[in-house]
Amino acid sequence: MIDLFFFKGYPVAVMGLARSGLASAVALKASGATVWAWDDSPVRRAEAEAAGVPLVDLYQADLAGAAALVLAPGIPHSFPEANPVAARARAAGTEIIGDIELLARSEHDATWIGITGTNGKSTTTSLIGHILKLTGRPVAVGGNLGTPVLSLPPMGASGTYVLELSSYQLELTFAAPFSVAVMLNITPDHLDRHGGLDGYIRAKTLMFEQKPVAASDRVPTAVIGVDDEPSREIFRALERRDDLTVIPIAVEHRVAGGVYTRHGVLIDDTESKSVEILDLRTLPALPGRHNWQNACASYATARAVGVHPDLIARSITSFPGLAHRQQRVGQLEGVIFINDSKATNADAAGKALDCYHDIYWILGGKAKDGGLSGLEPLMGHVRHAFLIGAASESFAAWLEGQVQYTTCGTLDVAVRKAAEMALAERRPGACVLLSPACASFDQFTDFEARGAAFAAHVAEFVGTYSG
Ligand code: ADP
Repeated sequence: MIDLFFFKGYPVAVMGLARSGLASAVALKASGATVWAWDDSPVRRAEAEAAGVPLVDLYQADLAGAAALVLAPGIPHSFPEANPVAARARAAGTEIIGDIELLARSEHDATWIGITGTNGKSTTTSLIGHILKLTGRPVAVGGNLGTPVLSLPPMGASGTYVLELSSYQLELTFAAPFSVAVMLNITPDHLDRHGGLDGYIRAKTLMFEQKPVAASDRVPTAVIGVDDEPSREIFRALERRDDLTVIPIAVEHRVAGGVYTRHGVLIDDTESKSVEILDLRTLPALPGRHNWQNACASYATARAVGVHPDLIARSITSFPGLAHRQQRVGQLEGVIFINDSKATNADAAGKALDCYHDIYWILGGKAKDGGLSGLEPLMGHVRHAFLIGAASESFAAWLEGQVQYTTCGTLDVAVRKAAEMALAERRPGACVLLSPACASFDQFTDFEARGAAFAAHVAEFVGTYSG
């Protein structure tokens, strides 16, 4: 258990009791803090109580008496409007922090690697974790991906945390002692929560503004993608700082002193001469140019913590990939089935559409702002679109005149119709692709449930067809 000794004997409020909030409350209680936990949902409150967490109605409590408010990252504290509990804590002068901050104050002797960015965080976090595990070091991987940080083991000075951090988490983190802070890219997302693009960029740059509780003579490394303008602007500002080593990464253009790809080959230019490290074009678990960015960032990070280039190259090659991100879940008579359920916006879906041709594209769900705009140039890759969920009507209007489509309603129908058409048309290399460009919440609990349902429908179709 992570020992949150600094709050021993103090009242600490915890608002939001889903996975990370509950883990925070449990760790605080076990560390001897007086926990005041609350969630708007009676179900969550009951779960917390069953886990031995004391409940206090934070809408009524005197928050001036709490040493801190630990806020779940999903709860707004500023935009579009502060949650009333956050507003009351702020008015009472009580600091508002998140679970990453709690870990930072406890485990500041460990090596910290943090990864943020609009897209590619989970892939890069897992890939860095994979590389470091193969070096034999003690590594714990979590945060926004997988295990909440306060459920990770204590690592101490010899261990490494590899943490995926969302912009929401970063806004509640102040003392993270990053050895390497990675920022992959910035495209507009979650703007309502940050009061616009500037607020979103400001949240991401918090990655490089941390003030660790224990002074250290280590110079941290910033690994930063320079393929988009907001990130380039941050890079230019970071380059002027002398308290950071800055390594730029880029896809398909040279960056002096950085890590980049040329024709899909990863090149290390961080030493006196540039060295070709690895051809990324044939790695099945990292398809597409977007994954080249993830591979470059992972390589630069592993180099920064002293891993040999040969071992990094071997580890990138053996990376198994992550579920729901362009994951191949089936094959039938030359048609491949790809689960890209994690593509919850048009930008992410575009990455997958760019990787294949003759695509039988399953899309839809709860649409994001901007819908499908930006995907026009990729419609030549699509044979036919199969629409599901709440966005069907607006997506149909967008597709009109560009691509033929069928409105399917539900995913099971879409899989069957897409597979039947793909098999009937017999185009070499054809693929049935679930890359929804939408959130899943209209029909599924989350993108994992949607991806799992897709894989199950594919397995059923393949079983029936073959049987
Ligand atoms: P995140 O954790 O940031 O959401 P993931 O690694 O889970 O990112 O990838 C989600 C989706 O985003 C992928 O399915 C892919 O379509 C797209 N993606 C992955 N890496 C990148 C990248 N470096 N740049 C742009 N898009 C990416």
